[in-house]
Amino acid sequence: MRSCTQFYIDGQWVDPAIPATADVINPATEAVSGTISLGSAQDVDAAVAAARRAFDAWSHSSVKDRLDLLRAIQAVYARRMQELGEAVTEEMGAPLSLGCGFQAGLGAGHLQTAIEVLETFRFEEQKGPTLIVREPIGVCGLITPWNWPLNQVTVKVFPALATGCTMVLKPPQLAPYSAQILAEIMHEAGTPAGVFNMVQGQGSVIGTALSTHRDVDMISFTGSEPVGIQITKDAADTVKRVGLELGGKSAWVILDDAAMAENVAAATAGMMVNAGQTCSAGSRLLVPRARLNEALAAARSACEGVTVGDPHADVAMGPVVSKAQWAIIQDYIQKGLDEGATLVAGGPGRPEGLTRGFYVKPTVFACTNDAVIAREEIFGPVLVIIAYDDIDDAVAIANDSVFGLGGYVSGQDRDTAIAVARRLRTGAVWVNGGFDFHAPFGGYKHSGNGREWGEHGFHEYLEIKSIVG
Ligand code: NAD
Repeated sequence: MRSCTQFYIDGQWVDPAIPATADVINPATEAVSGTISLGSAQDVDAAVAAARRAFDAWSHSSVKDRLDLLRAIQAVYARRMQELGEAVTEEMGAPLSLGCGFQAGLGAGHLQTAIEVLETFRFEEQKGPTLIVREPIGVCGLITPWNWPLNQVTVKVFPALATGCTMVLKPPQLAPYSAQILAEIMHEAGTPAGVFNMVQGQGSVIGTALSTHRDVDMISFTGSEPVGIQITKDAADTVKRVGLELGGKSAWVILDDAAMAENVAAATAGMMVNAGQTCSAGSRLLVPRARLNEALAAARSACEGVTVGDPHADVAMGPVVSKAQWAIIQDYIQKGLDEGATLVAGGPGRPEGLTRGFYVKPTVFACTNDAVIAREEIFGPVLVIIAYDDIDDAVAIANDSVFGLGGYVSGQDRDTAIAVARRLRTGAVWVNGGFDFHAPFGGYKHSGNGREWGEHGFHEYLEIKSIVG
């Protein structure tokens, strides 16, 4: 049994001001895997006060001091990487190969990237008579979700640290373990007291206390659209900056010259990674109408190849995070059937042979873009395939969404593929694959307003001062 009953405040592990706990459930077994303390506004006050006290010194620390700290964290992180991955698997159900691989690896990647960016980042530049100085914004409240728990924590904590900010992290209640280990890593690496603080608990309590706090200068939030809107409203009275990284319903456009079976298989398998709980997942697959049947056959066969089960076994997909998430996904699958979408693979209920755990069948529908399952973020292993007539139609369908987080284009002719990518109203487009820790990540439209990753992630946490004359 794991225990997350203390908070990390002012360089120490402390008991909550008001004792209150909740069980943490292992989504693979539905058994209790540990206990979390649910913090209160008093714990947030203590954490914010510690961050405020630490701000003056840390904001004036040298780049060398910050690099030394990030490298010290890197050494401890590398040593505890397996433990971090195991924690991710236990808290949110990702297969161990994913937990210890890409999930924990993303954290290591963001840490290395923060170091690389900090080594050459220009905090000052002279432009004519003006010295433009980039200064840390202050005390930051960092609020994160459970789906790629280490990714979302590290993509905030390390740039905030590198730019001289101090912070209070509020990890997801459903997935508290990896953040707890990260706090231990920060402590062992010698992070000065008060620079990094962590309070666990409910979003409606801890998150709201941070968003409304007079002494918090900025909130960086990753999570759902409704909560992002609520935080923006809560933060308005104290005029703090709010960085939002919200949901998506990203289109994957397969162009006519692309190898159809191969690309559909890649898109289908990609949708099932992390049981479909990825904000930038290509959850709408757009294929030329004349090749729809070919695409459906390829998707069906790709789904058959997705093994689902115990995340400690050699499987492609574990359970989804919680009973509530399982029920939401089941509702969407039923909605798809009710509104007449064609079920290509999967469907309602658990995969055969699995009677416990929040397991979902890898599911594919064919439908039109006006279907609810094509418009709303399902956040589960459910792909919709939509036929298009020509490139203009494909672009129109892709952009016909309130979201604008990611996009994918597959095609042999690179110029055509890039031209389509330029027309997508989204914060990122991956053309024929690719991955880059330095590529800015964030959304257009209802997918948010922030840009994380790489150098752009630093700008989130900086104020700009002009010294003229
Ligand atoms: P969520 O919005 O329910 O919760 C996210 C965090 O906000 C949690 O820590 C939660 O406790 C906290 N919270 C809840 N209510 C709050 C409130 N009133 N005030 C302040 N904080 C509050 O989201 P989730 O279910 O944990 O995550 C899934 C969502 O996150 C999906 O919509 C997904 O697309 C999105 N997401 C976006 C990105 C991105 O980079 N754009 C990345 C990952 C996930």
